Amino acid sequence: MSNSVRVRFAPSPTGYLHIGGLRTALYNYLFAKHHNGDFILRIEDTDQSRYVEEAEEDILKSLAWSGIEIDEGPENPGDLGPYRQSERKDIYHKYADQLIESGHAYYAFDTTDELGQMRERLQKSGNPSPKYDAITRQSMKNSLTLPSEEVEKRLDAGEEYVVRLKVPRRETVRFEDLIRGHVSFETKGLDDQVLLKSDGMPTYHLANVVDDHEMQISHVIRGEEWLSSTPKHVLLYQAFGWEMPEMAHLPLIMSPSGGKLSKRKAESEGIPINTKDYIEQHYEADALVNFLAYLGWSPGDDSEIHSLQELIQLFTMDRVSKGGAVFNHKKLLWYNEHYLREQPDKVIASRLKEITERDQIKEVDDNYLEKAVGLLKDRVSKIDEILEMGSFFFEDPKEYDENALKKWKADSAELVSLYKSEIEELSDEEFKAATLKTSLESVINKKEVGFGKLMMPLRIAVTGQGFGPDLFASMELLGKETVLRRIVTALDELEQ
Ligand code: GLU
Repeated sequence: MSNSVRVRFAPSPTGYLHIGGLRTALYNYLFAKHHNGDFILRIEDTDQSRYVEEAEEDILKSLAWSGIEIDEGPENPGDLGPYRQSERKDIYHKYADQLIESGHAYYAFDTTDELGQMRERLQKSGNPSPKYDAITRQSMKNSLTLPSEEVEKRLDAGEEYVVRLKVPRRETVRFEDLIRGHVSFETKGLDDQVLLKSDGMPTYHLANVVDDHEMQISHVIRGEEWLSSTPKHVLLYQAFGWEMPEMAHLPLIMSPSGGKLSKRKAESEGIPINTKDYIEQHYEADALVNFLAYLGWSPGDDSEIHSLQELIQLFTMDRVSKGGAVFNHKKLLWYNEHYLREQPDKVIASRLKEITERDQIKEVDDNYLEKAVGLLKDRVSKIDEILEMGSFFFEDPKEYDENALKKWKADSAELVSLYKSEIEELSDEEFKAATLKTSLESVINKKEVGFGKLMMPLRIAVTGQGFGPDLFASMELLGKETVLRRIVTALDELEQ
């Protein structure tokens, strides 16, 4: 094996890319790039029953959106492909044969019924979790118990079979995990793992080990849920006589209410679970990446904001935590706000035109939209909220917010109309935030009332809402004609 770092992200195309999967991809990518290594995408599509057509495309799209670049994969193959397991069947057969020949694996012809009977028999005799193992294999139909002529005969007749790994009876399997340290498992608890299924497809275990070896993977970085598969992989590496890659099992992502963040839990807690959801809901990619990087890792100081390039520089495996990482949605929104505010108003404005389905915004003058963005972007968490909170910049209020209306008091109409008379006198050039504020002060001073007494009803009249961006700057942008028209309508509708 060469000294260069080669990692792989090896998703099964069974659905949309989960954010847990995206974090695994990200950690692989950060680790590889930190060491000037390669990031390989391998599609583990051997389970035909769970195959989802659009999944591969979704994986590619999600990685590209996040800024994770693939050095070798199905779309840009290197020399060690193919990169889809379904296209590598011959390779797995060759290696399964090799294991049978070396005595590390065997053919098993047992039918589903026979396997069921075996389990039943063992359960009755007090074994709660029966296995096909060193003991039971002796009374089953396999190439270890049947005479070799019969095995040949069955194979020649095209009888269905599986290939199983001959797991040693009482051994301790040990390996070092870069995150967890020393890990050991007893083979006593392991099944004689199926390596090749009766449909000729390899199982995850065989394909995964063969490919990691053939693709010269130096580090396997994957979720903790795969830790219990690792002893089987260790046995396979030993059986083949291959050097094993370094192993690193990432901590689970936990739900805020405790337990693993499952799809169901995420849904009930309002957390989007697939990367696709984040794309569709207009999250900032940089924010999700920064947030996911910190979900199980930290650079060891109190810095929190880092670009992908900085994360590459900072990322080391010894700072990945063992314990589960709690998904804090508020923190993600905090990151999102940061990365949104960092962008020039002009950029946000043109993105808004792309994402909105409201024609009237697409037609709004660029300069006007940019100014509205400037007033709104510090008040929202996500870009699409600019359109909601700032809808009054694009159309007259259709209705007045119910809660805000509680602040429309008996004297509100009188104060608002006095204000209207003040600003009617202003020319278009004078219609500026500072002057509009002075006019308000002049009314409240005359009537000897507090600021809010006029401010709130005025905001309701002009925006339809009880809160929002700076009112005077907003009125300046809306312009004299619009502001006066809205005040007249509000007085008409709300006068008591
Ligand atoms: N195909 C497995 C998955 O879907 C890969 C696990 C591994 O990285 O070994 O996550």
